[in-house]
Amino acid sequence: METGKIVKVSGPLIVAEGMADCKMFDVVQVSDKKLIGEVIELRGDKASIQVYEETSGLGPGEDVVSTGEPLSVELAPGLIEGIYDGIQRPLAKLKAAAGDRIERGVYLPAVDHEKKWEFKPCVAVGSEVEGGSVIGTVQENILITHKIMIPYGVNGVVKEIKKGEFTVDETVAVVATKDGDREIRMLQKWPVRKGRPYKEKLSPLTPLVTGQRVIDTLFPIAKGGVAAVPGPFGSGKTVVQHQLAKWADADIIVYVGCGERGNEMTDVLNEFPALIDPRSGQPLMKRTVLIANTSDMPVAAREASIYTGITIAEYFRDMGYSVAIMADSTSRWAEALREMSGRLEEMPGEEGYPAYLSSRLAEFYERAGIVRVLGQQGVTGSITAIGAVSPPGGDLSEPVAQATLRIVKVFWGLSASLAYKRHFPAVDWIASYSLYADRMSEWYGENVGEEWLSFRAACMRILQEEAQLDEIVRLVGMDALSPSNRLTMETAKSIREDYLHQNAFHEVDTYTSLEKQQYMMQLILQFDKLAGEALDKNVDIEDILELPVREQIGRAKYIPESQMQKFDEILAEIKNEMSELVGDGEDY
Ligand code: ADP
Ligand code: MG
Repeated sequence: METGKIVKVSGPLIVAEGMADCKMFDVVQVSDKKLIGEVIELRGDKASIQVYEETSGLGPGEDVVSTGEPLSVELAPGLIEGIYDGIQRPLAKLKAAAGDRIERGVYLPAVDHEKKWEFKPCVAVGSEVEGGSVIGTVQENILITHKIMIPYGVNGVVKEIKKGEFTVDETVAVVATKDGDREIRMLQKWPVRKGRPYKEKLSPLTPLVTGQRVIDTLFPIAKGGVAAVPGPFGSGKTVVQHQLAKWADADIIVYVGCGERGNEMTDVLNEFPALIDPRSGQPLMKRTVLIANTSDMPVAAREASIYTGITIAEYFRDMGYSVAIMADSTSRWAEALREMSGRLEEMPGEEGYPAYLSSRLAEFYERAGIVRVLGQQGVTGSITAIGAVSPPGGDLSEPVAQATLRIVKVFWGLSASLAYKRHFPAVDWIASYSLYADRMSEWYGENVGEEWLSFRAACMRILQEEAQLDEIVRLVGMDALSPSNRLTMETAKSIREDYLHQNAFHEVDTYTSLEKQQYMMQLILQFDKLAGEALDKNVDIEDILELPVREQIGRAKYIPESQMQKFDEILAEIKNEMSELVGDGEDY
């Protein structure tokens, strides 16, 4: 490779000449400090390079050497529990090596190359393999079995397969291909800007169960689906993302943090490792890869971070796992894109964002999905992608929110006024939507209960009626409502307060199984139905609203999953109290 020379330095962007040999997206080493950069524009022999490290002190005339390789990640046992920067440098080791202020030009491998892992083969000599075929496993930790796959592009017959302890660089198998023998090691590399291949994309038909009632019931997300959580500062985006990381029934979590406030990522770095995986009782990190961009890190690394994250997600998808990737917040990512574009002196689009903002966002979200993987018969894997969007002032008409909304199929709109009233999660039930809900209806019938869909529809309808009645009340007051409209208002209130409101920090309330969600809806709707019948028999609405069982309905969210029979008791109590009130001795 020839050596280029810096001609200009503009913050994280440098321009070098004498770079005719290199390709777009090649990784380069800048100056004798060997700072890592990536070619993002080529004109003649001039390359514009985004540098992933602090560029102060660099100047014209210094060397730039292309590595000839695109920005890639290391994929191997040792990834799980990794805490990385945007270009997969291990943060803890960087800090240990260089002190609190990360030194420049420090190269550290993403995974440990010295550590020996117990490799258990699962194919025999003579087996035919292709890219994606699993040849063995490594028990990475108590929660995760890491599958060792043949790299894409390699096809042939296993000639040799080993068993025992190996580093990620040692040969664990030899495959005879038509181009000769290929040694297979556990380490793979993959360029971050290119999606890993798969056999076929499938339609997402199974929900990712999150235990968050407003999500699971009203606006469910499918495994392999894409969702956005837009909301102003303080509306609960990060809490939603953390709740999903903890509770969603995904095998692997990839969490990409792009901090909003100066110290927010420091919080993530402190908080995330402290989270406990509720199902296993183990640290959540044991099934998590964390990518953190603190605000003191160069913006270019932030731009790369979501690609680094989704590539790691694809690698675990390829093992047949269900992966959830959270990006908090994509608005900070878009700002990095805007800054780089400005430095490139590109024609700015809306609000200074480059015209390719939407296509870049789409490229990220398109890598989510549920797929049939290559090399493993009948195996599917999925990536569910959930991006937080933090538009300034919560204004959804700005470019990042708009571009995101055109792509995603689930929209959990967080509302400032709900957050202000401390109704959490502050998901606006009128503005939000899920385009997966209808397609997944069969699944609920088979896996939860026949009534799930009708309960859900009833809740939606009552909330919408409330919104309309609200208008009337605003105009002419509550007294103008008929008793049955009053009842609708009260039932809607119960749906909001007793059902949708969910405290992330309450031991029991933090997670609700679908079975319990169905029971909780049943209580509210059963009360509504019997109350409606009582009204028809001229019972006073005030008497109905004073029934003591209402308090039990309100507290049903705190019933532990192990005491589901309590719901039947409350259902019976509703009938008793109501028939007493009606006084006709009729047994409902
Ligand atoms: P954002 O990321 O949108 O700025 P956060 O996720 O940090 O907002 O939430 C701000 C605060 O709102 C939290 O610190 C917490 O007090 C409260 N909050 C948000 N969601 C919930 C929830 N589900 N349960 C209880 N409190 C919540
Ligand atoms: Mg936040």
